[in-house]
Amino acid sequence: MKRIAVIGGGMSGTAAAYQLAREGAQDGNVAFTLYEASSRLGGIVETARVETADGRWIIECGPDAWVTEKPWARELAVELGLESEILPSNDAKRQTYLLRSDQLVLMPKDMRMMVPTTWEPIESSPLFSDEARAAYRREAESAAKLTALALKDGEDESVASFVRRHFGDEVTRTLAGPLLAGIFGGDVEMLSVRAVMPAFVKMEREHGSLIAALQSRKPSGGPAPAVFTTLASGLQTLVDRMQAAIPAEAIRLETPVTGLTRKGSKWHITLFSKVTLQTDHIPQNESFDEVILATPAHVTRALLAPVHADFGRLLDMEASSAIIVALGFAPKDTRNLQIPEGFGYLTFQPGPEDLMACTFADQKYLGRVPAGAVLLRAFFGGEAGLRLMSESDEALIARALRQLSAALGPLPAPALRLVRRAPRSLPQYAVGHPARMEELAALTAQFPGLHLVGNAYHGVGLPDMVRQGREAARKATS
Ligand SMILES: Cc1cc2nc3c(=O)[nH]c(=O)nc-3n(C[C@H](O)[C@H](O)[C@H](O)COP(=O)(O)OP(=O)(O)OC[C@H]3O[C@@H](n4cnc5c(N)ncnc54)[C@H](O)[C@@H]3O)c2cc1C
Repeated sequence: MKRIAVIGGGMSGTAAAYQLAREGAQDGNVAFTLYEASSRLGGIVETARVETADGRWIIECGPDAWVTEKPWARELAVELGLESEILPSNDAKRQTYLLRSDQLVLMPKDMRMMVPTTWEPIESSPLFSDEARAAYRREAESAAKLTALALKDGEDESVASFVRRHFGDEVTRTLAGPLLAGIFGGDVEMLSVRAVMPAFVKMEREHGSLIAALQSRKPSGGPAPAVFTTLASGLQTLVDRMQAAIPAEAIRLETPVTGLTRKGSKWHITLFSKVTLQTDHIPQNESFDEVILATPAHVTRALLAPVHADFGRLLDMEASSAIIVALGFAPKDTRNLQIPEGFGYLTFQPGPEDLMACTFADQKYLGRVPAGAVLLRAFFGGEAGLRLMSESDEALIARALRQLSAALGPLPAPALRLVRRAPRSLPQYAVGHPARMEELAALTAQFPGLHLVGNAYHGVGLPDMVRQGREAARKATS
């Protein structure tokens, strides 16, 4: 009987356990257990569902969607019978603002991140100076020069240095900075372009100019699919459905794994369960043939550094923290609100206690709040995410309301308020990350039965978590 441990029940670990269950592992020659430190599965993924006199509110406490382009989360949803729940983002209203000097400025449309697919938005956007417009035009005319300067195999650089080479400093600060901070909670001067924008690195290699590369693409025909996809009842449903397909006895909640050692061909894990805590704090030891580690990078590092010092070195990565403040405004209070049309805003160079972004959640996904209600999801990230982590919920709500009122106009008292903290939740893929991941894969391969999944390695989005978790389960059972 092959024994498999999955450690960590976020999206990646739950997907791994679900795949093990799906392959009928429990009935055959394989047994598995999923260990989760907290009292629920989902990790950063969590949906609050609230009923008020006005109706039902679906409030995402972490991620709110997956990018449609990557198929793995959608495939899983369909497999779990959730096809009728699949909800595309309301792209008729897809536009984003930049909060600069207390003013919301519309970001140009028809862009793939900072790269335009048509010229009109660049010419008309109030966001750019004439110098930035000229930099865009120059990029399109400099294909040969940019091809010569393109990153070679094995080379890496920061996102900032890559974007500056193409579009200059203003576009780097005005567009790339806020966009990358919004996705990775990170700093463009530090993030690895090869890790976080591999498609652009490939385009540079093939076309030199990124504008030329995008404009040379043939239209796919038919309307473009929505950029984001979610579930009508919230992303937690994906986790709940996977959990329902895993035998209850294979899930051990409130059971943090505190140690991992390798003896002979077996992995031994040490864990504290609710039961052992009640009986003299005696840790339990269990042994396994395969271990799927789906814990956050700093936990994985603490577990693996004693196994081999190089795990300690390779998993030593920064991770940014986020605080989410969701505020719901009842229909009776929203008549005089003047929230602009769009998906939300990003803040230009936020100060150390400033919101990094705000999503207009009721506009981004339709039908998830009572008719006429407004739901804002505000984020503190970067330095503010760290600095404000221990502030009380009340103080965070008051701080967010003050800043949102300055950006969006006076706001009434919210009918619903919710705060979630996600400390060290987004690992920073620093320059050199891809090479470091190759080294990590080679080291991991020296330890048969060890599998690393989660957002520290090859992508932070939910589709990547699903793909990695399921792949690891298949490998572990093969
Ligand atoms: C604020 C925010 C917004 C985001 N928005 C989006 C979005 O809209 N779309 C998108 O695709 N992605 C988004 N992401 C990224 C995505 O949500 C995460 O990358 C992903 O959910 C991480 O999944 P995971 O399984 O790697 O880890 P986690 O969700 O961190 O789960 C790890 C689990 O391990 C458990 N654990 C920790 N230590 C132990 C231990 N010792 N023993 C046992 N268990 C342990 C934890 O309790 C946790 O349940 C967002 C991230 C954040 C922080």
